[in-house]
Amino acid sequence: MIPADDSRAAIHRPANTCANCGAPLEAVPKHASRLVESSGGEEEVVRQDFCPACQAEARAGEFHSRWLAQRPAPPPPPKRETRRAQAAALREEFYRLSDQPEPSDDDLDTLFLLAHLLMKTGGFRWRETDEEEGILTFLDRHTQQLCQVKSVALDPERLSRAQDRLSHLL
Ligand SMILES: [Zn+2]
Repeated sequence: MIPADDSRAAIHRPANTCANCGAPLEAVPKHASRLVESSGGEEEVVRQDFCPACQAEARAGEFHSRWLAQRPAPPPPPKRETRRAQAAALREEFYRLSDQPEPSDDDLDTLFLLAHLLMKTGGFRWRETDEEEGILTFLDRHTQQLCQVKSVALDPERLSRAQDRLSHLL
């Protein structure tokens, strides 16, 4: 616990390495931390963090206060990475389903949904709609390739079936 009476100390951020031996601390869930009088500089007190192997050093000498710091778990991978991986998986599925001589109705529904999902995240850009033929054309900006999907009228039931088929990728 950071002492409440020392508001300046509360803004000290935990160090990434042990003050005594230099071991990395980022993955240590709990470790000793303390404030000691500064030997100079602008701060009156400085924060020191100690790895589990350096408990004796954390107690040695004079210190202003000492506590057990809890470190939050390292953050999950950035969202951007996750989204990029997801978009890649959707693209792969799109091209896999497109590459069939006679796609089933379910495949056509799924392709239609995929093209729209890829417009949001995967670099697809709508180019044109051929009303007569019922064909939508998209540009894949990654490859500069034009992709066509059959325009389908997804009622809620078909939409949810198409979503189910992609649920492992979403
Ligand atoms: Zn250490």
